[in-house]
Amino acid sequence: MLELWETEVVVAVCPHCDWRYVVPTEKATLRCPHCFAADLEPVVDDVEQLPYLRPPELVTPFTVTKAVADKRIEEFADGIPFAPRDLNPETLRSRVQRLYLPMWLVDSDVMATWGAEVGFDYNVVSHRERYSDGSGWDTQQVQETRIRWEARVGQLERHYDNVVAPALEQHAAMEQALGAYALDVAQPYAAGDLARALARLPDRAPEAAWADAAPTLQAAAGEECRQAASADHIRQFRWSPTYTGQHWTLLLLPLYATYYLDDDAEPRPVLINGQSGRVFGVRRASMQRAQHTALIIVAIAAVLFLLSLVAGVAGLAAPPLLVVGGIGGVLALCVGLGGIIPIFRAWQFNRKPVETL
Ligand SMILES: [Zn+2]
Repeated sequence: MLELWETEVVVAVCPHCDWRYVVPTEKATLRCPHCFAADLEPVVDDVEQLPYLRPPELVTPFTVTKAVADKRIEEFADGIPFAPRDLNPETLRSRVQRLYLPMWLVDSDVMATWGAEVGFDYNVVSHRERYSDGSGWDTQQVQETRIRWEARVGQLERHYDNVVAPALEQHAAMEQALGAYALDVAQPYAAGDLARALARLPDRAPEAAWADAAPTLQAAAGEECRQAASADHIRQFRWSPTYTGQHWTLLLLPLYATYYLDDDAEPRPVLINGQSGRVFGVRRASMQRAQHTALIIVAIAAVLFLLSLVAGVAGLAAPPLLVVGGIGGVLALCVGLGGIIPIFRAWQFNRKPVETL
């Protein structure tokens, strides 16, 4: 089945998160671009038994160039106080991988009887009396829009194309992170698409994905019934559909994935939508670095304090030094209190909710 991809590819799996990919042969041992916690391992045994090994029919191309992705990474890394040492543009850029996520599209014929209440807007004019001190009673004309509801039933016979359905269990989470993709620019799969990218294999069967496609079909049918009735609104749309001629298409969506290691040396993924450039990742200050800076400030304060103490003792013999010691003591106290600032800044930054750039 892999020869249908028309390029040198193998299947590889991540031993940590279990994500399964089709990858160019020379990339079979790359770091997993999902969890970044382990290197991929080529699957050798029973490869042909794996589900959904066929190449995709459609691919949404990378429209965000590597240069633009690099720029987005720079913006991501910018402005984080006491950023973890690993969170810098150079490191993030050096680890970027191109990745495709799968999604199903389904076409279907539908025959159904339907019923709904359709609503028509109409205007009513009423009059309101208003009293003001200057002009006494005043009559105002008020226009108000109301809805007239009518029950309708009917028959529907339609063909629907390209209804989207998740091919991944994590589809909703990934969509929330990366935002939506425009699917109308998708192109037929070409062998070159996999030259520099990994493709995640679906882990969700079309039968399971159908449960998500059916409500979309129902919403589309409801909207069409509203239009057919020339109504402004529709409610309580119900139908008993019979689906035939379902045809499933696999589509790939592009993204860039990279990561940095946080204070605990845990990998934190940073994802960039390959079409819109939207970035998702956790931006957090390093408490370790903030504490380190605080310690240096406290150490400087301690040295100042010691010098002031020496000046104070010497002041017993030469009184002007007593003043120097006093000023030094106050200065040491101020610098010492300043040690709180780095920790407070990092704490305050980390309280912010995770944002999408
Ligand atoms: Zn993994």
